[in-house]
Amino acid sequence: MRFNDILGQEKQLNIINTYIEKSSLSGGYIFSGPEGVGKKAFAKIIAQKMNCTAQQDRPCGACSSCLKIEKLQHPDLHIIEADNSQIKIEDIRTLQREANFRPYEGVMKVFIIDDAHRLNSEAANSLLKVLEEPPGDSLIILITHKPQNIFKTILSRCKIIRFSPLAIAVLEDILVKDYFVDRSRAHFLASYAEGRLGQALKLKDSGIFEEKNRIFDSLALSGKPLERNLAGQNREQLRSCLNILASWFRDIYMLKAGIADSGLIHLDRRSDLLKLARDFSFKHLDGILTTISESMFYLDSNINSKLILHNLGAQLWKA
Ligand SMILES: [Zn+2]
Repeated sequence: MRFNDILGQEKQLNIINTYIEKSSLSGGYIFSGPEGVGKKAFAKIIAQKMNCTAQQDRPCGACSSCLKIEKLQHPDLHIIEADNSQIKIEDIRTLQREANFRPYEGVMKVFIIDDAHRLNSEAANSLLKVLEEPPGDSLIILITHKPQNIFKTILSRCKIIRFSPLAIAVLEDILVKDYFVDRSRAHFLASYAEGRLGQALKLKDSGIFEEKNRIFDSLALSGKPLERNLAGQNREQLRSCLNILASWFRDIYMLKAGIADSGLIHLDRRSDLLKLARDFSFKHLDGILTTISESMFYLDSNINSKLILHNLGAQLWKA
């Protein structure tokens, strides 16, 4: 993650810069927004910005401080994560103790509490003591996608910065320029991740691009029974397949409805989609999308997966 990745999050960056200019960036902050939109990456960039040793254009991304933070090896960067669904009180006690020391190497100690909605009341009370009298050289960033589950006492002591998904085109550009992903993959990843940078990066090396095309070629185009094609997949894999299948039929539907090319998830297969758009009626596509979403529901309800796939296949290939 580099500084350029802040592209698309200018609003949040401006807010932080204002605090820095007023020399009032300390104490508690809550970064709230959907999962995978880059909240934690942004928090790390702030840690770099505060501790970078370059004379200008901080963070430089190249000094020893920036590199240590990037690798999570800086002694003034502390990342606290939930263990078994809860954030341990011992971790917050350590934070409480560490916050009172001066920074070891840098200018500011940065504590990032991931999934901060997992603080139990004991840990929250302990954290509250630090937030009530925050040392000037400590920054505590709470990351959450469930701000409604954060204790009100904590909320009232923190400044809240909201994050939203990036525009698809912005994320596509980030993937191309900063992660050297080719354009058609980048378009797919940005669209499929719905503008969430973290999610797109997670998918990037997962082989999903090949997988989604395999699913399209072997399932959507073949007309073979789904239950035979997908035999041996566990429920998690089936759910992922169904998600991908839904995105294909969503594209066919949208193409038929006249959506602009940039709105397609599978832009790399536009001509194949166009052929299918002629073969399927809106009513048929409606039926398929409904059956896929019902199939997901049945998968969660532990109904026999062979039966679910047989049912879905019958809907797909009916004339
Ligand atoms: Zn630096």
